[in-house]
Amino acid sequence: MSKQVYNFCAGPAMLPQDVMREAQREFCDFNQLGVSVMELSHRGSHYMKVAEQAEQDLRELMNIPSHYRVFFMHGGGRGQFSAVPLNLLTRGDAADYLLTGHWSKGAADEADKYADVSRIQGLETDSDGHTRVTEKLRIRAEARYLHYCPNETIEGVELFELPDSQGKPLIADMSSMLLSRSLDVSRFGLIYAGAQKNIGPAGLAIVIADPALFVDARDDIPAILDYRQMEKHGSMYNTPPTFAWYLAGKVFQWLKRQGGVAAIEEHNKAKADYLYQYIDSSDFYRNTVAVSYRSRMNVPFQLPDRALDPEFLRGAEQRGLLALKGHRAVGGMRASIYNAMPLEGVKALVGYMELFEKLQRR
Ligand code: PMP
Repeated sequence: MSKQVYNFCAGPAMLPQDVMREAQREFCDFNQLGVSVMELSHRGSHYMKVAEQAEQDLRELMNIPSHYRVFFMHGGGRGQFSAVPLNLLTRGDAADYLLTGHWSKGAADEADKYADVSRIQGLETDSDGHTRVTEKLRIRAEARYLHYCPNETIEGVELFELPDSQGKPLIADMSSMLLSRSLDVSRFGLIYAGAQKNIGPAGLAIVIADPALFVDARDDIPAILDYRQMEKHGSMYNTPPTFAWYLAGKVFQWLKRQGGVAAIEEHNKAKADYLYQYIDSSDFYRNTVAVSYRSRMNVPFQLPDRALDPEFLRGAEQRGLLALKGHRAVGGMRASIYNAMPLEGVKALVGYMELFEKLQRR
């Protein structure tokens, strides 16, 4: 037996063990066809069944209104940074972007190439020095939508309430929180997510959209980013990322077996509470996000002295606690605890944090 490892990587992230084992069992011989699912035609009946089941399971898990479209696309989260403005705006149209961290800024910078973008600074520091999100937003009358990122993967800032979009369609980059908690999809014009956190392998993007928002007038969109092509061809305008789609389908079935999104939400709350409570109880570790905006998926924390970081990481790795190094933009540590991370993984991390603190104080 290899030793127990917990992978805290922000993405590509840990996937459920059951899913990996199931995929391994079928890897060379899918449905007793003598070939891998990777080697099947995407248009053949065996693969079509996989693809359709995945969409149906996702619709069920998220209770997606039937008139919303669901696309399985190439290009990850950033692909959608371009696809969203290209499909929802005509050249020169206005769109407003709420900035709460690295990824929402990235989305605005990309949209800037195609549209008249206004950036709304969304973060402020409260009197205790904690980061929080601005509540009063100045959205332009001419804006065609408001884009935001409900969970900033790097800063560990999560918005649990919807921003007041003042009647504008709300577009959300849910790359690092999709399927982690319940949502009312009908309140969003469009949701997208790169897959490599709660869904499956990198490269795939999921798009859930009200097709009434797609503009008709454009013919300058690269066809592989064109939502109308996706609609027309059932996400198979070109060869889709078939293996990633198949694995995403397995993750959706796993999630259904866990009791669905509401059940995983409770599990996620318990994990995040356990970790934050420990951080708050210690005067050694710190998290500087205001309590009501703390991410349940990505928990950044700092040690009292940056010089201790390499030693902390070395010891963690020796104990099978992997990929805790914070993003280079913010430093420190970051524990990503997506759906597939068991509570035992978080307990193992806290156990190590306690030990490390004790050793430093000796
Ligand atoms: N949005 C968010 C919130 C992310 O966390 C990431 C990746 N970590 C991206 C977008 C970019 O995704 P990709 O690398 O798949 O393009």
